[in-house]
Amino acid sequence: QNYHTILEENRRLYNEVQDLKGNIRVYCRIRPFLQGQNKKQTSIEYIGENGEVVVANPSKQGKENHRLFKFNKIFGPATTQEEVFVDTQPLIRSVLDGYNVCIFAYGQTGSGKTYTMSGPNLSSKKDWGVNYRALNDLFHISQNRKSAFVYEIGVQMVEIYNEQLLFIFFNLHTLGIWASSQPNGLAVPDASMLPVKSTTDVLELMQFGEANRAVGATALNERSSRSHSVLTVHIRGTELETGAALRGSLHLVDLAGSERVDRSEATGDRLREAQHINKSLSALGDVIFALAQKSSHVPYRNSKLTQVLQSSLGGQAKTLMFVQLNPDVDSYSETVSTLKFAERVSGVELGAARSNK
Ligand code: ADP
Repeated sequence: QNYHTILEENRRLYNEVQDLKGNIRVYCRIRPFLQGQNKKQTSIEYIGENGEVVVANPSKQGKENHRLFKFNKIFGPATTQEEVFVDTQPLIRSVLDGYNVCIFAYGQTGSGKTYTMSGPNLSSKKDWGVNYRALNDLFHISQNRKSAFVYEIGVQMVEIYNEQLLFIFFNLHTLGIWASSQPNGLAVPDASMLPVKSTTDVLELMQFGEANRAVGATALNERSSRSHSVLTVHIRGTELETGAALRGSLHLVDLAGSERVDRSEATGDRLREAQHINKSLSALGDVIFALAQKSSHVPYRNSKLTQVLQSSLGGQAKTLMFVQLNPDVDSYSETVSTLKFAERVSGVELGAARSNK
């Protein structure tokens, strides 16, 4: 590829990114019923082509029972990992042009957050989630641009549990320095960043990360659903002709389960976890909402999660939230609260567009 083709491609990508209206997009993904669940009733009434979804509780009668939500895209239960990625790719590639991008998966435990972000099975390529595909794609494109740019890629994986940061690649070692406040959010120290030179490197690191997370999870009672996992990809690039430097970052975040924990039943550790999750998810919602509203004050300081992500939320940064739904009618009330959260962060609370079907 010569220099001009690369510029051409840059321009096309830039336009694609500009086309993403505003800086916040919300994609909703509905997972299929799992094996053995075929007799279950669904709360998903309708999936529209233009990003609409209607949910209803079939055990209740009446029109007011139907709720319409509209997002940038809806992925129904039959959507493949590949299809989800295709719609995410322009955003991911923009990181190589110096953008900061943040991609989240939000939803109750069991709604498919990890499936979307990591995938169910690392050994099968078609199952790969957004994380692996993103890294693979970034390597591929950076290689293709070799004649015009030199890129360095670094990866980091952090877990946030009970408002504490744990560096997965460092054997769950907690770094004390995080306690001191820094002017621009919590800049992650370069020391915890591992350079990666190939997709194989990444796969190995991530397998290691997942394994470590899983070990922690068994020991701490399925902690993974109660912690946020943040995979960060840092890009440093130099344009060969001009010597100009660029930096981009990609944060891929598998959030803790958003389900409400019954206060009257939860005690001790469980209650503490629930409070931390609640606090950090609302802080995230508040930050994204403030950004969507172009508010002059963005409350980053209210949780570790929003502090860690500060550099990639707001400004020129692009945010994508995958809103994950479990189709089971038993999850109806969690589904509605998930959709309401998503509607709020998308900055378009429907009002007029909401209908009672
Ligand atoms: P979460 O991370 O939100 O707790 P998981 O990603 O672990 O949820 O998904 C829960 C279960 O549903 C897993 O068994 C997962 O493999 C399955 N699952 C989730 N999404 C899909 C999907 N799109 N297609 C098939 N199975 C899925």
